[in-house]
Amino acid sequence: MKTFKSNVELVFNNLNSEKPSRNTIGILAIKERFETALPRSIPLNGYSLESHQKNEYSRWLKINTVATKFKNYKAVYISLKHPDRAPGDITAAEMRFVANIADHYSGGLVRTSHTQNLLLPLVHNSNLVSLWRELSSTNLSAANIDTMQDIICCPGFEFCSLANTTSIPIAHEIQNLFTDPDELQALGNIQIKISGCMNACGHHHIGHIGILGVDKKGEEWFQITLGGRADEKLQLGKRLGPAVDRASITSTVEVIIRHYLSERIDQQEHFLTTLDRIGIDSFKEAVYG
Ligand code: SF4
Repeated sequence: MKTFKSNVELVFNNLNSEKPSRNTIGILAIKERFETALPRSIPLNGYSLESHQKNEYSRWLKINTVATKFKNYKAVYISLKHPDRAPGDITAAEMRFVANIADHYSGGLVRTSHTQNLLLPLVHNSNLVSLWRELSSTNLSAANIDTMQDIICCPGFEFCSLANTTSIPIAHEIQNLFTDPDELQALGNIQIKISGCMNACGHHHIGHIGILGVDKKGEEWFQITLGGRADEKLQLGKRLGPAVDRASITSTVEVIIRHYLSERIDQQEHFLTTLDRIGIDSFKEAVYG
């Protein structure tokens, strides 16, 4: 065991050493055989944005793109969240369109994310306007990544034989609560996650607002949890109180969000920070009286 431990330490020390060891020389030799193939930049053919497009484009750029380790390249999310589509759904025609887009702008690379969206991992900055324009033409440019519209939602009753309750219609009802882009952006990052049963395919237990469908004597009820998170401060959400029925679930979520809005110190205070500061009992009082 001692020998094994010292060998592991030796390898780790060599990883940080400037002088390559026998092992790291092998790794370097392998690395040299793989060039990073960055997608090329494509001229924009003089296309410029009209003033009303500039706002939409800027919002999309801010919300749906992420910096990468390559200076001139961004990762671009294609949101599959919209009140008009089941969360994460994409048609065959749209998928073919995305495949062409990926070939054209992202070196043929496209990834699915656990948040039920698509990601073009490497897009050159000079191609972003052109890409946005193409996505807009096919209703794939919704600028709502990490907003309360970006709900992770399991298929629920609509497609899953294990479900206790419906999920997708609830996601749509909640998405329709805040559709104004400015209002949505002002709400900030609120992660809502919905599962139609305790199998938790919708990750409800780590949602800032988690919704779990339960069956009570053949009727649909919903347990709400608050404060779940999956970042470096990982924690499971805490139950807010008694389950609410199908007719009340959307309005209850609205009460929670409006309570946050009325209690947050300013627009910069995140939902979880407000929750930590005022406590879950404050939300309980707002919901159950
Ligand atoms: S959480 Fe339950 S209802 Fe939803 S997809 Fe998974 S098994 Fe089906």
